[in-house]
Amino acid sequence: MLFVLLGLGLSQVESATDGFCYYQTSCGPTSWPVTYPTCQGTEQSPINIQKNRTIRDEHLGEFKFHQYDNRQFLTQIKHTKMSVKVRVKPGMELSGGGLRAVYLVSQFHLHWGQNISAQGSEHMLDGKRASMELHIVHRQTNLTLEEAFKHRQGLAVLAFFIEIESGIAEDPAWRNLTRTIKYLKEDGDHYDLNETVSLMDLINTVNHTKYYRYNGSLTTPECNEVVVWTVFEEPIHLNASLVECFFEYLHVNHAGGDKLVNNFRPVQSNGNPVLSSPAASRGADIGPTRSPAGGTHGGDSTPQQLMVTTSGSARRGPLFLVLLLPLAGLFLRPV
Ligand SMILES: [Zn+2]
Repeated sequence: MLFVLLGLGLSQVESATDGFCYYQTSCGPTSWPVTYPTCQGTEQSPINIQKNRTIRDEHLGEFKFHQYDNRQFLTQIKHTKMSVKVRVKPGMELSGGGLRAVYLVSQFHLHWGQNISAQGSEHMLDGKRASMELHIVHRQTNLTLEEAFKHRQGLAVLAFFIEIESGIAEDPAWRNLTRTIKYLKEDGDHYDLNETVSLMDLINTVNHTKYYRYNGSLTTPECNEVVVWTVFEEPIHLNASLVECFFEYLHVNHAGGDKLVNNFRPVQSNGNPVLSSPAASRGADIGPTRSPAGGTHGGDSTPQQLMVTTSGSARRGPLFLVLLLPLAGLFLRPV
């Protein structure tokens, strides 16, 4: 009995002293704004993207992915206590896509729920959460990582939803990546990828011209508001057999302890406009429902509120769109 109590106590102390967690009241997402004041900012992530509230921006064109198809750049997958992260060699660069700088891939990681039938993405699309979410984190090439954490749009994150689809074949690249998960039972475990997969192998089933764009934050403390987000509309579809390992093998601290599940932050309020690329769908074409520079956006808007706020401006929508687009562009410029 004593050992059981000591075991439970140690687990909680470890979580609390390591700063933040996803599970306990003392260190979970609702406590982050208290412990980390930046987490209560006005440009927080993730958000619920409501397609018919986005603003179409002709400048959001195709991305240029440099060296994303080179398998030599993904070196190691590692258990980081709150996720699994893939380390990369420097050299994969991102530009285009309406970005105002060239960005270098720093790492990528994932967020997930608690089982095959649960939802674990961070962003939501029209109020729906996906099974998982992939985040590819980039920093501006002319900044160090430390500088990027303090610089508006210092970081660019590409977010991909992952949906489980029964009956489809196992994707070879995702099979190569996820077969390593069983070796990552506890914090610090890692596994060399040995040039078995490239970044493009993992994302090439998605249409890269359909996406949403907004300025937000890191989704973990200290929630720095330095991220230009790109959330792709189309999900990556994976067979359930490739996703099960995330719920089965990973533990928060040590093998045998709490399972590492539900590592996603709830959606936040964010007053920034959400832009849509010309190829992305925008739901019902009713025009913008608020000023791009003001108002609220996020999971706190109910469909009823949306109906009330859109009813008066529906006919004026297209005119507002023409007048406000230049303002939206200015707002997204780094300052
Ligand atoms: Zn993330």
